[in-house]
Amino acid sequence: MKIKSISTYPLFHGGKSQLLVRVDTDEGLYGWGESGLTTREKAVAGAIEHYAGWLVGRDAMNIGALWQEMYRSQYFEGGRVLTAAISAIDIALHDIKGKALGVPVWQLLGGKHRDFVDTFASVRATDLGRAKELTHLLLESGWECVRLPRKEEPAGVPGRYDPWKSLIATSEWLMAIRESVGRKAILGIDIHHRLNVAETASLLQRMPLGTLDWIEEPIRDETPEAYEALRRMTPVPFALGEEFASKWQFLPYVERDILQYARVDICNVGGFTEAMKVAGWCEAHYVDLMPHNPLGPVCTAASVHMAAAVANFAWLECRETPGQDDWDMDSPVFVERPKLDGARFPVPTKPGLGIEIDVDALVKAAPAKPFEFPHYRRRDNSHTNW
Ligand SMILES: [Mg+2]
Repeated sequence: MKIKSISTYPLFHGGKSQLLVRVDTDEGLYGWGESGLTTREKAVAGAIEHYAGWLVGRDAMNIGALWQEMYRSQYFEGGRVLTAAISAIDIALHDIKGKALGVPVWQLLGGKHRDFVDTFASVRATDLGRAKELTHLLLESGWECVRLPRKEEPAGVPGRYDPWKSLIATSEWLMAIRESVGRKAILGIDIHHRLNVAETASLLQRMPLGTLDWIEEPIRDETPEAYEALRRMTPVPFALGEEFASKWQFLPYVERDILQYARVDICNVGGFTEAMKVAGWCEAHYVDLMPHNPLGPVCTAASVHMAAAVANFAWLECRETPGQDDWDMDSPVFVERPKLDGARFPVPTKPGLGIEIDVDALVKAAPAKPFEFPHYRRRDNSHTNW
């Protein structure tokens, strides 16, 4: 079975820009993949076009070797654009292989370890009352783990971010929500690398131990030594890795035990082929996966299959939660996709990923549009991280 064509579909759906990829074969089977590098779809589509130039005609079942060839076929190997492209193609090839063999993708990965895939839910709120209300609603709806919102200051000023005002206000929110929901809830927060080392240490030291069960991405990840410094300043577990674009980026974080949860993003790290290697490595360090799943249903489906097939798994991020369904994920474009059953995804049973997409409707219903996340500045007008 040979690869016949590779098509890219940039779209805007669920509040974000996304890039879906379809690989067709000469036997009529096709597979879907997704790139995780949101807002940079044109760059990834260009890389995929390049790869398609020589992937057409290749054996679609020979996924591991094709991964190596995509990664190693240029002198300037790796990088987030290329691995986002490789991820999408790798996921689509697994979809094809599962369909060809008549098995769900998790069967290709060694079989399933669990009966369902637990998720964590995220609270999105701009005032404390609403944040508390939503946290209680999610806990009552079956979630055991909830990711809490940041309180961002100055409030109501688009594009502005004051780290100290924000971290002080956020610590007060987190303590109030913990007091409100009690000790049984598992609570985390994503800082979205808005802070530096000292600011993160202060945020965590302002709260009693036990307020947070984990903190996600407090600082940028280019320098593992900075995270090691932070690791010495707080006992709160770190959830890191959603931006890592290969096993080599995970290497220092896993080997030096800097991360305690691996936020592996299957659409960025290199697809199933690379994600399963990261998972095995994390298993040796007693680190569970908490996969990043911020985009569309293909990413969700791939993440569910991976989560089903690894020994070391905590919770999968999910986007559709009660009380805040404004992302309109339920598009008719996605004829078949994973759907939550309460706070968990059932393990899929159909061959491949179990995704069906109406391509004609896709092009019409969710056209790509120029999209940028806010470019944040501090009060002195200097740039900072979104
Ligand atoms: Mg995050």
